[in-house]
Amino acid sequence: MGSEIRITKDGALCCPWCGEDGEYLHHQCVTVYERVEDAERVTVTRVSPHRPTTVEIIPSRESDNPSARRNGLAIAFWCESCQGISELTIAQHKGFSHLDWRKSKLEMFGTCACGSPIESPGREICFACYSEQQK
Ligand SMILES: [Zn+2]
Ligand SMILES: [Zn+2]
Repeated sequence: MGSEIRITKDGALCCPWCGEDGEYLHHQCVTVYERVEDAERVTVTRVSPHRPTTVEIIPSRESDNPSARRNGLAIAFWCESCQGISELTIAQHKGFSHLDWRKSKLEMFGTCACGSPIESPGREICFACYSEQQK
């Protein structure tokens, strides 16, 4: 995605969409992509706050590994301001470690009727629709 990685002067990571207004980021699923250089398969481990940990070995090209050839890491964050879920990625590339943001494809707690992901467990609708209903 190529968004700037912004950190407030107090050390808080900012949402890639909201910038300084989006410092309320809630850490969600962490995904580790373990791969020997150019290997056909990658081991994908996911640790989520409300789900059992999963480990899968899948073809590298289907994996969403942020690194083209080696190891990668993705940490998903949910932003209170825009309700967006973004993943901070760390990709090994020719010995460098590149940081970037990408829009998350993760299904957190299902999908709301409006098409947005549901951000919290035990809810049927997304936060935006919930807020709308409370008015
Ligand atoms: Zn945001
Ligand atoms: Zn909704």
